[in-house]
Amino acid sequence: MAHADEAAIFNKDEAKVDWHDKALWFVRQKRDKSAHKVKGWEELRNYASAIKANVLSNLDSYLLQFEENAQKNGVTVHWAANAEEHNKIVHSILQKHNAKKIVKSKSMLTEECHLNPHLEAHGIEVIDTDLGERIVQLAQEPPSHIVLPAIHKKKEEVDVLFQEHLGTKPCDGDPEYLTAEARKHLRNKFIKADAAITGVNFAIADTGGFVVCTNEGNADMGAHLAKVHIACMGMEKLIPQEKHLGIFLRLLGRSATGQPITTYSSHFNKPEPGKEMHIVIVDNGRTEQLSREDFRASLHCIRCGACMNTCPIYRRSGGHSYKSTIPGPIGSILSPGIDLKKHSSLPFASTLCGSCSDVCPVKINIHEQLYKWRQVIVKDVPQPVVKKTALKMAGSVLANTKMYHFAGKSARFMLKHMPRFVIYSKLNAWGHARDLPEVKNDNFDEWYKKRKKNE
Ligand code: SF4
Repeated sequence: MAHADEAAIFNKDEAKVDWHDKALWFVRQKRDKSAHKVKGWEELRNYASAIKANVLSNLDSYLLQFEENAQKNGVTVHWAANAEEHNKIVHSILQKHNAKKIVKSKSMLTEECHLNPHLEAHGIEVIDTDLGERIVQLAQEPPSHIVLPAIHKKKEEVDVLFQEHLGTKPCDGDPEYLTAEARKHLRNKFIKADAAITGVNFAIADTGGFVVCTNEGNADMGAHLAKVHIACMGMEKLIPQEKHLGIFLRLLGRSATGQPITTYSSHFNKPEPGKEMHIVIVDNGRTEQLSREDFRASLHCIRCGACMNTCPIYRRSGGHSYKSTIPGPIGSILSPGIDLKKHSSLPFASTLCGSCSDVCPVKINIHEQLYKWRQVIVKDVPQPVVKKTALKMAGSVLANTKMYHFAGKSARFMLKHMPRFVIYSKLNAWGHARDLPEVKNDNFDEWYKKRKKNE
């Protein structure tokens, strides 16, 4: 189904849509307040964007440098061309250690590769330890947001879910009680885990170390207790030097939730004595995206989620309507690169207002890329006849002054004189939630001429 059809399902519950919209707007406002407190915020964005552009232009050498330094630190580095290879590598490491119980901190890459179902099919228990991720895992749903995976769920829904799966008592969605119960449940899983899987936020080429950012400390807890730590990273996650971390860490937390910094920025460099540390570096379509001149900057993304929180379409259509691992504006420019036909409706799920580009900490020109994808898609993917005909007609009207004036006059006349039930019929989806402004007699052109005459 196209994004609009999926969004229509989410839109059936209007109260939930309003609540979802407000919740994300609240996060966006927190981001604004936090960003405005930092002198030189725009300089930080410029630096981050330039560093990422440099990394992408020299990705081959940075990757090799990172590999060499990580190996010197005693870390085993693996390379995966695609999701299938990634999953096989992770599974083979676990098999070697006869690991049957795994704890995993938040990693959009492992979501992208569908690692959990792959491991579960081989009889391995995978527990997502980020609270939001655990909630959606128990609900058997994918995350709906990259930073706030369960943002589509109300606390009352979590209450019912926990009663069913964790045996908690009904508590009217008391967040303190629910969090304490989740903590008990997860602690038990951490203690018994054979191996820990984490994502990677930043991999540092000149040290071979990497940083994982969480707000719950779950990545540290898993990695420090288990004998084997497997870190899965997309190949674009590199930064050249440790000193660049300060720029990205200041941007990430503020852009994501308005926090000055994520609660835990955990630095991993080498395995503890007697333990193993593995890094799996994954391509899975990134090289191809890198080769697309117009879209390569999408690989700057540090997955802060700010573009989702600000996007009026995302806020009112929910993350699941994108049917893609990464939803929202950034997902809409990444996903068509993976499967153009399947995700061809996503670049149209935007008003092109540019708010996503304005908040992006690494200055990705998201709305411009959305527009560019549209131009690719209309050439490569057949569009609905109704849409094509309507746009052709609109094109003819807009290209002809006389027709444009006539159409404007007719529309103003009809809007003034047609009964309300005709104007606000089922055909007018726009009018479903709002009234049209009062219709004036003149258009701007006529108003301007009259004004000039009276001067
Ligand atoms: S595109 Fe920019 S704003 Fe969106 S998640 Fe990535 S870094 Fe954040």
